[in-house]
Amino acid sequence: MAEQDQRAALIAAAREMNALGINQGTSGNLSIRHGDAMLITPSGTPYDALTPEQIPLVFLEDGRFEGPLAPSSEWRMHRDILRARKDVNAVVHTHSTYATVLAALRRDIPAVHYMIGVFGASRIRCTGYAPFGTQALSDLAVEGLGRAHGVLLGNHGMIVTADGLERAMWRAVELETLARVYYLARLAGEPVILPEEEIVAEIERFASYGLKTTEAR
Ligand code: 13P
Ligand code: ZN
Repeated sequence: MAEQDQRAALIAAAREMNALGINQGTSGNLSIRHGDAMLITPSGTPYDALTPEQIPLVFLEDGRFEGPLAPSSEWRMHRDILRARKDVNAVVHTHSTYATVLAALRRDIPAVHYMIGVFGASRIRCTGYAPFGTQALSDLAVEGLGRAHGVLLGNHGMIVTADGLERAMWRAVELETLARVYYLARLAGEPVILPEEEIVAEIERFASYGLKTTEAR
């Protein structure tokens, strides 16, 4: 995808995140890999007013950035995930309500629904707490994510990853839905957790099933 298209796609996704109700205000942030750098939403800037030229470009090697606005305070988290995971080209961080409720309860999400397979894991882990924007939070996020495509950040929110932005946005909605299902099922009783071998089979099936994106990369 051309850089200009990536910039426009990032802004559209940031606005969509709020319109979908999986984030609010200037919370949350998104990034896309661009060669040996990343395009990332700027810090504390309302998404409605953003223009493509204002999107910061941050170099993965040393964190230097170009652009008129400072990158998201969570740029380390995005940078470190993109560095650790060559299969990932897009990272979305939101403070969606149910994911954040579980993160406040410090609960992993177990295999309460087969759709957990879209995260390539049988469990969405929840990290401990570290202040926003710190290297400590980034370290927890990278470790908690492991080889999966989703993680809860203790008392903070969630992160999802994907090979492209469309699929990352899809996973953000799926993770919030999974969190809501788990929360409500716990409220109503004791949910049955699917066995590990069932999820391993689902993960294989999800290799050829899931969101069909039109995204050019
Ligand atoms: P930024 O506005 O700096 O991206 O911060 C939002 C956030 O979610 C911090 O964790
Ligand atoms: Zn946050």
